[in-house]
Amino acid sequence: PIRSVAVLGGGISGLSTVYYLTRALPRHVPITIYESSKRLGGYIQSTQFVLPSAHRNTGDDHVLFEHGPRTLRVSKRVSSVNIFDLIRRLNLIDELILVPKQSRAAKNRYIFYDGRINMIPYSVPSMLQFYFSQPLFRGMLLEVLREPFRQNRPKAAVETNDESIGSFMTRRFGPRITERLISAAIHGIYAGDINLLSVKSILEYLWKRETTWGSVLPIWKRRTTLETKDPYSERHKEHLKALLEDNKEFMDSLQGTSIVSFRHGMQSLVDRLQEEVLKSGNVTVRYDDPVRHLENVVDGITVTSAKGAHTYSHVFSALPSRTLAELTEPPLAELLRKIPSVSVNVVNLFFSKPRLLPVTGFGYLLPKAVPREDNPERALGVVFDSDAVSRDHGEGAIPGSFQDSVDGTKLTVMLGGHWWNEEMPVKQHDKAIALARQLISRQIGVNETPVLAQATFQENCIPQYVVGHHANLRAIHEAVLAQFNGKLILTGASFLGVSVNDCVYNARIAVEDTVARNGKG
Ligand code: FAD
Repeated sequence: PIRSVAVLGGGISGLSTVYYLTRALPRHVPITIYESSKRLGGYIQSTQFVLPSAHRNTGDDHVLFEHGPRTLRVSKRVSSVNIFDLIRRLNLIDELILVPKQSRAAKNRYIFYDGRINMIPYSVPSMLQFYFSQPLFRGMLLEVLREPFRQNRPKAAVETNDESIGSFMTRRFGPRITERLISAAIHGIYAGDINLLSVKSILEYLWKRETTWGSVLPIWKRRTTLETKDPYSERHKEHLKALLEDNKEFMDSLQGTSIVSFRHGMQSLVDRLQEEVLKSGNVTVRYDDPVRHLENVVDGITVTSAKGAHTYSHVFSALPSRTLAELTEPPLAELLRKIPSVSVNVVNLFFSKPRLLPVTGFGYLLPKAVPREDNPERALGVVFDSDAVSRDHGEGAIPGSFQDSVDGTKLTVMLGGHWWNEEMPVKQHDKAIALARQLISRQIGVNETPVLAQATFQENCIPQYVVGHHANLRAIHEAVLAQFNGKLILTGASFLGVSVNDCVYNARIAVEDTVARNGKG
């Protein structure tokens, strides 16, 4: 039975693990969170900056910057329905900012290519219109038409049951679609290199579709029953059904919504979770107490941290894989080290002048196809925050966001990611801001001086699911069982999904499976 629990890491994965544990376990089972820093939330962090006095109308005019994630996706996936179940339970519905599917913020997404920003089609008519008017799409039609007749899977990919996204997409479509569109999308989510990341782990539904039909085009969609975009669906259909029933009214109200954020930033999710778990009475947080070693002992696992050693019957790790590797022995440690990660410098800028941008929309991404001389800053993309979570998504949109007390133009420039695999990352605050300003001046003509500018170097912040990730996960699972007899449970962004939605849902599954296996203490 579960007698005492330690949860390692107080990011969103650790906090949601604790939340689901407090719901599943009786009150007498103590739960301890180990967190190396002085706060909970990990990469989720929002800060309110007060404007310099010259730009203030009232004494406390402020602007909100997100240093990590900024939006949650609304979809029919179980992990998405689950996060809205959590938001409802935490009484956060009134804090939500909804971005409608039909708004320009949701529809207008851009890719920088050939010296200009190109709009990505959002409908069949827009596809025809953009195809002929934008350089991004030049030569792509033939690549699409040829897709069903492309070469089969190479022997190595069949044997390993995996391939890089770059190789898979180039084989199916050709280099234009792969390097101009797919690489941009992957920059937006993983900050990663399409030639290293796994198609099986990241785009499993396309991999399965090729296995079944020899083509990935949605023309064949109706004939397929096997594959789905939701990797959880086979196992979690029942879960999804129950969640949809419990949240029917709320999910119905989100039907026309594409993404959401919070009036006081993503931090609200962390703050409410923290408040809720502390209310339960059996949760202790050990701040500023990095874990240094884990040891399997007869009656549990001994956790040695900076401030001492304690034994727990069960330990949930919500740490990044490379951190957990430092606390454990081979073979587990070696397998965990096989999951690399990339760093991003997140540069937030606020300009007092509204409507500074040449277009309205969510933002733009830079694909691999942009030559180095057009992207010497090594940028991944730019988010137009003041449009993306603005007050009004209709035609007469007011620039400025619900999150800020004044109107203006708010942008985030993401620098680095896999580009820094081969060169030195830019960690310095002022240098990162200078690079971001240079980029937006050249690419979208924003030359003003920002009234607020903040650069945050997020070291090793996005795990990379490289080719062979799924096989490595299986090996990790076996090593954990062998070295810790089922008393150590792994969750967190390093393994089964990097989005906040996935982190929360995977924490829930980890808790429910463990409680089902071990009893409630
Ligand atoms: P972390 O946040 O890394 O938490 C790990 C915790 O462990 C940290 O608090 C850390 O301090 C602590 N820790 C580390 N070492 C130790 C130790 N030895 N002992 C104890 N504690 C330790 N997702 C979305 O859904 N939407 C987005 O818009 C989005 N945008 C993103 C933008 C950026 C810039 C980044 C970096 C990520 C983004 N993501 C987004 C992804 C998502 O935010 C992350 O994958 C997620 O927050 C990771 O949460 P986690 O709890 O698994 O890990």
